[in-house]
Amino acid sequence: MFKGKNVAVTGGSRGIGRAIVAEFASQGADVWFTYRSNDEVARTLTRELAEKYPGQHFTAVRCDAANADDVRAFFDEHLDGLEQLDVLVNNAGITQDGLMAAMTLDQWSSVIDTNLTGVFTMTQQVLMKLMLQRSGAIVNVSSVAGVYGNAGQVNYAAAKSGLIGMTKSLSKEVVSRNIRVNALAPGFIDTDMTSDMTEKAKKDILGKIGMKRMGMAADIANAVTFLASDRAAYITGQTLVVDGGLVL
Ligand code: NAD
Repeated sequence: MFKGKNVAVTGGSRGIGRAIVAEFASQGADVWFTYRSNDEVARTLTRELAEKYPGQHFTAVRCDAANADDVRAFFDEHLDGLEQLDVLVNNAGITQDGLMAAMTLDQWSSVIDTNLTGVFTMTQQVLMKLMLQRSGAIVNVSSVAGVYGNAGQVNYAAAKSGLIGMTKSLSKEVVSRNIRVNALAPGFIDTDMTSDMTEKAKKDILGKIGMKRMGMAADIANAVTFLASDRAAYITGQTLVVDGGLVL
């Protein structure tokens, strides 16, 4: 589906982002992905992908999604010069959980800065390019917490809910330019983000999931590549919930 296409993914070195990068690669894409801190992991991933998919291009760029200068440099140095940018996936995200009564302003701000403002900054950088080329697909990784809320995550839910509002509004601004903007709301996915939950918390959530299993990063990557592909050519401004029946 993506042979010869250029794809940018934020937070691509591990978890869901890594699976997204791998899925685009397996479908023929050239991929530029960002990561926050672990140079070695990112370098190893690009080397493995280049060996597995010779002829395709893979670049990892250290870029803090919450730092506007980093994001601007990522665009200027790696994406702006491409003849065409076909897909942007805003995946980078963090949690800083706590009940609202005790949440510090730092906990609030760090999550909003990375999960919401970071997406604004990244998307704004690529937008003019997509508008001039009159094509492109943007996929924002939100969360079921952004759709339904979650106790202990007012910061995260506000950011992820904001992302859905941004998706709907931006899709209206750019639909006439042949640019599609969609969001994806994963449920409970087996990654580092969920690994430090207590066994009891995990068991409670698993009990609520219709399919009785955690989602795998690949479940999300499959849905992201679908939304970014021509198979979703008539879909824009939507939020696809991928949760194994958690919120049924
Ligand atoms: P993860 O912690 O395994 O990975 C997060 C990724 O984001 C990493 O690659 C990390 O380097 C990157 N990242 C974090 N802060 C960054 C920053 N400031 N700059 C650049 N990159 C940064 O988590 P994950 O589960 O793979 O999460 C991926 C996305 O999916 C996030 O947006 C998360 O909110 C969302 N999500 C996850 C779940 C879940 O259950 N795991 C559920 C719903 C939504």
